[in-house]
Amino acid sequence: MDWTQIDKDHVWHPYNALPSKTKILPVAKTDKTTITLTDGQELTDAMSSWWSAIHGYNHPRLTKALSDQAAVMPHIMFGGLAHEKAALLSQKLVELTGLNSVFLCDSGSVSVEVALKTAIQYQEAKGKHRYKFIALEHSYHGDTLAAMSVCDPDNSMHSIYGTYLPRHIFTPAPRLGFDADVSEDIATLTQTVKAHHEEVAAIILEPVVQGAGGMRIYNPAYLKAARKLCDEYDLLLIADEIATGFGHTGKMFACEHAGIKPDIMTVGKGLTGGYMTMAAMITSKEVSDTISSSEPGVVMHGPTFMANPLSCAVALESITLLEENDWQDQVRQIEAIFSEGLEKLKDLEIVQSVRNIGAIGVAELKDPSYAQQIQDTCQDLGVWIRPFGALIYSIVAYTITPRELRKIVDAMHTAIKKADEDYRG
Ligand SMILES: *Cc1c(COP(=O)(O)O)cnc(C)c1O
Repeated sequence: MDWTQIDKDHVWHPYNALPSKTKILPVAKTDKTTITLTDGQELTDAMSSWWSAIHGYNHPRLTKALSDQAAVMPHIMFGGLAHEKAALLSQKLVELTGLNSVFLCDSGSVSVEVALKTAIQYQEAKGKHRYKFIALEHSYHGDTLAAMSVCDPDNSMHSIYGTYLPRHIFTPAPRLGFDADVSEDIATLTQTVKAHHEEVAAIILEPVVQGAGGMRIYNPAYLKAARKLCDEYDLLLIADEIATGFGHTGKMFACEHAGIKPDIMTVGKGLTGGYMTMAAMITSKEVSDTISSSEPGVVMHGPTFMANPLSCAVALESITLLEENDWQDQVRQIEAIFSEGLEKLKDLEIVQSVRNIGAIGVAELKDPSYAQQIQDTCQDLGVWIRPFGALIYSIVAYTITPRELRKIVDAMHTAIKKADEDYRG
């Protein structure tokens, strides 16, 4: 039987109906930055599987790390037992973040759940009953219910879930632009903090780039201000680096653009180089000491697959690889090619704006109804791109060649130009 028929009849895809309302392409295999479909068509990958495959697919070193680990110990419960790969990975995360205490879990959304629980427990330990969070409009922090409750209410359709979702405090997102003047936005955040700090455990945000909620790049000065406000009003700062982490913005972590350290950081996506699902919550020593030295004295979370050795082994190797590669130079080259390529799109009438940073390039259209057409044109040109609403964006593996990246940028250009012609009618 044709397996694609089974897919149509029985398998959910993300944010979709069953059967799917949009085209789903059957993939046979991947290699480096190429995706091969079952009909043999080869597509250059402009998405790196949602920020995860930072070294491209099927990297021999990552594959070896995974299979070596599978032969020794594919899994072991983490309750009451420890293993080397989890320790070494945690040490790396501590070194890279400057934080201290690592909670390894299954996915980005789960790490955000743990971060929210940890922030509430921290405040409780200090004798403060604070159950609200300040989050930004256009934010995205995951799909589980608590993570979703701090996502932009409209984008994540809070209205579907009625009173089930906790209500948090949303403040306008900082305006677009890495160099934009954000003093008014900081003033608004300050007012929000002043008005609500007594009920708020933490501010949660995606540093410098708001990802799935709009691919919005903003001034790190806003982050600095958020850090200062948290210090002033005894709030924790949770930096969700799940998308931005491991080099995507040109820094290992986007917080480095502002020279600040959060109290709690979440990482995921690129963590295992796109091989396994794993994420981590990492906190300062102050946070973990405070929780550990007061009732109940434990972090109330412990997934079955916590610190899964396969995930740890491949994450450790992925970070080692990143450190060995000249990733900063690779990302700089990618940034230059995106800058140049996107610049040419700016004057098209259908294009609202273009922006890019690090390995991320974005063209925002005035009209989202052209997204599928643009995706189809790109596929005809041999490029896998998946627009999100009016956002035509690409996040590439750092190992992509300049030639492949130009192919992606050229395909975006051709497809958006064609849409522009239709748009102008
Ligand atoms: C993707 C993402 C998440 C959720 O991670 P999952 O692994 O999909 O659960 C959370 N926060 C941010 C910023 C993300 O980009």
